[in-house]
Amino acid sequence: MLGSEEAEFAEENLHKIEDIALKKLKKSIESFKITFDAKEESIRKELRASAKVNSKILSFKGRHKVECPACQSVATVIGKEIGASKIENGEYEVVVRRSVIPTEFDCIACGLKIRGYPQLVAAKIGDYYTRRTTYSPQDYYGLIDPSYLDPSEYYGEEFNNE
Ligand SMILES: [Zn+2]
Repeated sequence: MLGSEEAEFAEENLHKIEDIALKKLKKSIESFKITFDAKEESIRKELRASAKVNSKILSFKGRHKVECPACQSVATVIGKEIGASKIENGEYEVVVRRSVIPTEFDCIACGLKIRGYPQLVAAKIGDYYTRRTTYSPQDYYGLIDPSYLDPSEYYGEEFNNE
């Protein structure tokens, strides 16, 4: 067990570690920004354009688009799904929504990577997002249409035969 003095000391150090981690993060964002800004404009444009296309593709694979804190290109985050799924049954598709806590950030334009939810929050890209996945009802509920398994159809026939 920690005495109150030790606990205080531990807490103080924890804050120091957090401070160091935050300073490191800020430095890293700053250095990626400087490197990106030093490139020729035509190259920056090209990198931004391909980052935009790439992020759109990734957004269909569970990632969420955010603005890169270093180069302002379209980048993506991904994380951990939390809470219950919200399921919406349509005639042709089943939509499943789930909240995600972002824990990983990647920008392909400038190469910046950030790991960890507190780090993402510090970089102002740590908002929860909703992952939306659509399935066909057959895929979601299995390959057999449950209406074919309704036994009342058979009972109905038997009664009609009497
Ligand atoms: Zn970037």
